[in-house]
Amino acid sequence: MNIGILALQGDYAKHARAVEELGHSALCLKKPITLQKCDKLIIPGGESTAIIRLIEKLELRAALQDFGAELPVMGTCAGLILLSKIPGKLPFSSLGLLDIEIERNAYGRQIDSFIDTVQLELNGQHIEFEGVFIRAPKIKKTGKNVLPLGRHGTDVVMVREKNILACTFHPELADDLRVHDYFISSVK
Ligand code: GLN
Repeated sequence: MNIGILALQGDYAKHARAVEELGHSALCLKKPITLQKCDKLIIPGGESTAIIRLIEKLELRAALQDFGAELPVMGTCAGLILLSKIPGKLPFSSLGLLDIEIERNAYGRQIDSFIDTVQLELNGQHIEFEGVFIRAPKIKKTGKNVLPLGRHGTDVVMVREKNILACTFHPELADDLRVHDYFISSVK
């Protein structure tokens, strides 16, 4: 399968490695045209304000929205922020593909970043996964079609709404491919 990875800023190279380790092709994309070759798309973590500025500059907004209206997309950390639909206090207009409201930098500053075990439910199986949280957002509200698939304490940290999967942590930084594998094999 061809997995597109939005490669404007942030942690895209590690996602590409995870995709390749699972035996798929990673297409690092900076142009709308590359999306035509992609079966699925990953929007990585990084700095959401920087990524959205580049999305507008490179005229990627409409192509990303059209892709996510039908095909599978996974957003991690800043990627989840960019996917969110309920406006909240974001300083920019997000892509609006996932019915959640988020709060950016909800755990504090860079120094408050942390690693802790999260509980995930992948295809009905409960697993523990290493959650790497870097200036992570929190999910404040979810729409009625949004399934919580991951928790850290009482916080929901991974969600799915049909073809859209998103998490507030960085699965590409854990030495564990199960979240990428779930996205590639099970999110349709
Ligand atoms: N704090 C970043 C933002 O608001 C997200 C951090 C991340 O992706 N690790 O965009």
